[in-house]
Amino acid sequence: MSKGLPKRSEDYSLWYNELVKRADLAENSPVRGCMVIKPYGYSIWEKMQAQLDKMFKETGHTNAYFPLFIPKSYLSKEASHVEGFAKECAVVTHYRLKNSEDGKGVVVDPDAKLEEELIVRPTSETVIWSTYKNWIQSYRDLPLLVNQWANVVRWEMRTRLFLRTAEFLWQEGHTAHASKQEAIDETVQMMNVYAEFAEKYMAVPVIKGVKSANERFAGAEDTYCIEAMMQDGKALQAGTSHFLGQNFAKAFDVKFATKEGALDYVWGTSWGVSTRLMGALIMAHSDDNGLVLPPKLAPIQVVIVPIYKGDDELDRISDKAKEIIAKLRAKGITVHYDHRDTHKPGWKFAEYELKGVPLRIAMGPRDLENNTIELARRDTLTKETINLNDVEIDAYVEALLEKIQESIYQKALNFRNEMTTEANSWEEFEDLIENKGGFLSAHWDGTTETEEKIKELTKATIRCIPIDQKAEEGKCILSGKPSKGRVLFARAY
Ligand code: AMP
Repeated sequence: MSKGLPKRSEDYSLWYNELVKRADLAENSPVRGCMVIKPYGYSIWEKMQAQLDKMFKETGHTNAYFPLFIPKSYLSKEASHVEGFAKECAVVTHYRLKNSEDGKGVVVDPDAKLEEELIVRPTSETVIWSTYKNWIQSYRDLPLLVNQWANVVRWEMRTRLFLRTAEFLWQEGHTAHASKQEAIDETVQMMNVYAEFAEKYMAVPVIKGVKSANERFAGAEDTYCIEAMMQDGKALQAGTSHFLGQNFAKAFDVKFATKEGALDYVWGTSWGVSTRLMGALIMAHSDDNGLVLPPKLAPIQVVIVPIYKGDDELDRISDKAKEIIAKLRAKGITVHYDHRDTHKPGWKFAEYELKGVPLRIAMGPRDLENNTIELARRDTLTKETINLNDVEIDAYVEALLEKIQESIYQKALNFRNEMTTEANSWEEFEDLIENKGGFLSAHWDGTTETEEKIKELTKATIRCIPIDQKAEEGKCILSGKPSKGRVLFARAY
């Protein structure tokens, strides 16, 4: 095995990049800012997708698929939407190449210029609302609750694997409603779904809140979000849910006949989480030995490594291992039996540690004699010897996986709590941002001007106005003007 990972405490950024590559999650592609998601990384994403998809369906949504290309004119129909996305759009201008004159390659065929240029979708509101116009006539057609799993392109300048890429995978929900309240309820519901997913499955505690006007989605009336804390004290926006008001309905002329017989514009929402969640998962839990995966999202939950000399011993250990595997699989636990003779047990131990497999079972000849196994936890790096005469191995492992899931969450929660500090003066704010990091809970006067000034001075942005917090009047940390409540600031990814 190659030398160890860089240490988090020495170079967090390098540690992250190296971990993503060495744990076989993803790698850079020939195109800057794009990534190849490798099979092991993709299998974690698939587990996330499966769970989220289930939660979307349980809340009444169905999946559909809309095109990758959007006519350029669509994007400009909603003024603030185009303004927000224009800076990072990939544009298709031609549809054909031809051989170059020197015969050495191909060039864009100038005769194959598109009449109207196409945008590679950065998000699909425009194409979807132009379609909804045909789908919605009356209140009977509402609500329309659609989700799509897709890739999108935002030409980001500063990229990082998973956290911010030029092309990323995501889901985008787009719903249409007959009333404002119903659309707001949907927006809040989906933020809650995201929060539940982050906490129960990713074991990442999140703060639910509303974005300031400055950080709002281009074209939304309100953006709800979940914000997570990474181990280096930086925040990460993990998911967003937008209340679109009637903005897109007006832009695409989507009206419906109300129950009362009037014509009104439809109310909309959109919400999305992306492969950025992979980044959140990695950054929230992993350590200097590699990934730490919560059991609920681990592609392999238990790995069994036999320790043997010769085929005879392997056969005897395998017989025992197969019994255990059958019992664990019957409980729905994902088990991998790694009996390869191409690698030594020590190499395999390090490899599964790097890959974040929550539990490792080792079995050698002495274990066969004593009817024992060695069980190692990835999250705490602790080991115990289990006598199989004393426990039901399947129930034991099942309970232990649950315990690991819970304890990974608790650890992240304790860390986030330690990293959330109230700042009550500007000096304190500057000192905390510089020397401690994390979330700073502070009063703000509610203006974009002050928000931008704070960002300029400290690189801290308003992550959100938390939903679950008590009202408290105070004075803005920078301007001293009256404030109606605290907001959360942080430096963020
Ligand atoms: P938005 O449509 O801007 O609200 O973004 C929806 C989701 O995608 C949010 O959870 C963002 O954090 C995430 N996201 C936005 N830009 C990127 C990017 N360049 N790479 C990965 N995820 C992103």
